[in-house]
Amino acid sequence: MKRQHSIIILAFVFMFILLFARVFNEKSVYQKPYVNAGSDHPLSYTFPFESQQTSAQDITPKIAIVIDDFGGADTTSVDEMLSINCPITVAVMPNLPNSREHALRASTAGFQVILHLPMEPDYVEPNCLGPGAIYCNLTDEEIKERLVEDLDSVPSAVGINNHTGSRATANRRVMKVVLEVAKEHSLFFLDSLTTNKSVVAPLSRDLGVPYVARNIFLDDTVKEYAIKRQIYRMVDIARKNGSAVCIGHV
Ligand SMILES: [Zn+2]
Repeated sequence: MKRQHSIIILAFVFMFILLFARVFNEKSVYQKPYVNAGSDHPLSYTFPFESQQTSAQDITPKIAIVIDDFGGADTTSVDEMLSINCPITVAVMPNLPNSREHALRASTAGFQVILHLPMEPDYVEPNCLGPGAIYCNLTDEEIKERLVEDLDSVPSAVGINNHTGSRATANRRVMKVVLEVAKEHSLFFLDSLTTNKSVVAPLSRDLGVPYVARNIFLDDTVKEYAIKRQIYRMVDIARKNGSAVCIGHV
């Protein structure tokens, strides 16, 4: 009789554990922000903020902040950014003297790292793109080779976002090659959305590459009041949509 009691109690404990695991799992999936229908948000470094929503069923809004243009020579702002007490995503430009060092420092400090891929804009200023840039006149093979080299120079990258690229991200052939390489390396693509003609969303969906799009830039105007205004906008977007992806610059 005593043994039967023990078995019943054990069965209850087991059921409780199963139930708890299920609820916990559903909650964590539920809280993950949007991306292509059904898939996980590729930017894992997000932080929740105080939500005004009170219902237990409401989603806690999430924000991902991506800081572009690491890898350059300005080490003061890099040092400041890498000591920030906030889980940002660090986007590093390839093949610059500090690309490797910044990527390694960022990942060692616990930040998520992505490749900040220079891509051809509509109005090309060759000097702003730097080495390893993807131009639309490159062959498929050249794009592939260049992108693999770029990725080699940014260790621990888990995704790619575009630096400029209004022309390249609107080009199906170019983006298909870029996204195929991303898929081969299990990387997500964050579209910085530098053009409204971007083909990245439908292509990444077709190719099965995790994709997310930038909601706002934080520092188009580099003034404190303007950046604060963008931060309030970022919070509004996250409250409305469940998440927001924002890009600033180091
Ligand atoms: Zn950039």
